[in-house]
This record gives sequence, structure tokens and C-alpha cells, in this order.
Amino acid sequence: MKIEFRKVPQQPKEFLLEVDSVKFLGTFCKISSKLVDIKSKFEGFVRVNCCKCGSDFTIPFNEEINFLLSDGVYSSKDERDLDKIIIEIDDNFIDFEEILQSEVESLRSDYHICDSCAKDDDTIEIEY
Ligand SMILES: [Zn+2]
Repeated sequence: MKIEFRKVPQQPKEFLLEVDSVKFLGTFCKISSKLVDIKSKFEGFVRVNCCKCGSDFTIPFNEEINFLLSDGVYSSKDERDLDKIIIEIDDNFIDFEEILQSEVESLRSDYHICDSCAKDDDTIEIEY
């Protein structure tokens, strides 16, 4: 799902897409000629790899994230934007699938430990 930056409405518009087992939904609207605000929620499950044994398992991904999309280089110094993820768009198109994929990727690249390795860790701590 792609939308041209200049065609984003000023009234919040709903969106919903689902890739694999993750839903990405919320509203988006233009807040200035160069900025688009996305209030979104992620719901679902993501497959990750255990950093110890390498086996894969799923973890829940339920998070509310606000994005601020800038047409070109983001230059505003508005402090209200600090809790948002800033994305600079350089081809005039907002690609929701790409935003979803990049959030899933960043979650995957975090440090994850599967249940059985987590149990091993507990055992070692008890032995000390
Ligand atoms: Zn493991």
C-alpha cells in the first residue's frame, strides 16, 4: 500500500494492512505541507531467532507507535516530535508496507532468548 505524499488528506484517514502475521493499523493525516503524522498500532506475532541456540520462535508484537513522515530531510525542531519515529521520504511516496517491514526487522534484530535457553540461564543462577 503506497500513497503519494501530496495526496495525503488533512483529515485523519484510516489504514489497515497485514503482512504475514502482523497487522499494522491506525490513522494518518497531513499536518503541514511537508509532514505527515501516522498514529498506528501493531498487532500480531513475529518470528525471531534465539541468540543462544539459533532456534526460531514467535513473540507477540503489540505496540503503539507514532511516526512522523517528512517529505525530504526532516528539519523541524519541534519537541513534541521527540516521541515519534521520524521517517524521511525521498521519493514522494509513503509505503506503509515498508514501514511495517522495517519495524518487524528492527524487532527481529533485538536480543531474544527462547524459553529453553531462558530456563538454562535460571539453572546456572541457582547453582551459583
Ligand atoms: Zn535458545
